[in-house]
Amino acid sequence: MGKKGKKEKKEENKKETQLEIRKIERKISREKKKEGFQCSHCHAWVSLKAAGTKHRNHCPECLWSKHVGRLEQLREICSGAMIPIGLTFKKEGIDKYTGKPRQGELMIIHQCTKCGKISINRLAGDDNPDAVMKIFKYSLNMPKELCERLKKENVDILTEKNREEIEKQLGFKDFIKLGKLE
Ligand SMILES: [Zn+2]
Ligand SMILES: [Zn+2]
Repeated sequence: MGKKGKKEKKEENKKETQLEIRKIERKISREKKKEGFQCSHCHAWVSLKAAGTKHRNHCPECLWSKHVGRLEQLREICSGAMIPIGLTFKKEGIDKYTGKPRQGELMIIHQCTKCGKISINRLAGDDNPDAVMKIFKYSLNMPKELCERLKKENVDILTEKNREEIEKQLGFKDFIKLGKLE
């Protein structure tokens, strides 16, 4: 390759890098304005301005999330994709009148595919109920080791006996959505 060729190649690389930087800057500025984020799993643009999305931390279509946290041992920020692995109910303690546990809100259990961290997250109003049921179905056949890890972390994974309550809570969300359309 001649001197000129090298120089042209260098210019080309520089241009590409600048384009790449501009793309990232645009993305960050959009995210800064809290308009939303791009799902790193299914690539859907996820708006943060839709109704009932105050607690949005995952994609409403595929329900994957992203881990934003510091890894102590590695001294770096983890930004691993978080896979939805199952459902649980928020712990609301014991009802002092009935002596029975209070029914908690339906939550999603996420696990980071990079560092393994488990986190529990609230559902947003426009999460796809079919996707939630799909996770529930998969979680019924969860590997034993993962089941035991959840138990150790005091997370109660939902089973077939919770199906009715899950469907009730998901249906209630649909009912709210229908009410808004009127
Ligand atoms: Zn997605
Ligand atoms: Zn992580």
